[in-house]
Amino acid sequence: MDVVRCPADPDETVEAYLLSRLPEEQSAAFEDHFLGCPRCSERLQFTDDFITAVHHAADRLRAHVAADV
Ligand SMILES: [Zn+2]
Repeated sequence: MDVVRCPADPDETVEAYLLSRLPEEQSAAFEDHFLGCPRCSERLQFTDDFITAVHHAADRLRAHVAADV
């Protein structure tokens, strides 16, 4: 089975995809790719967890700052 090649810079592509910064066409192409690519889907999951964690930390920080005022 021929899976489309991984992006040249998978980390950046995954991050841009998760932050909706990829052009629609590229985003759709990457979606097709990672569904069939264990390495990219793993990277996507990992980066997604990371971004979620960062957002939660930022929310906590904001709540903390707001509570302090
Ligand atoms: Zn891949």
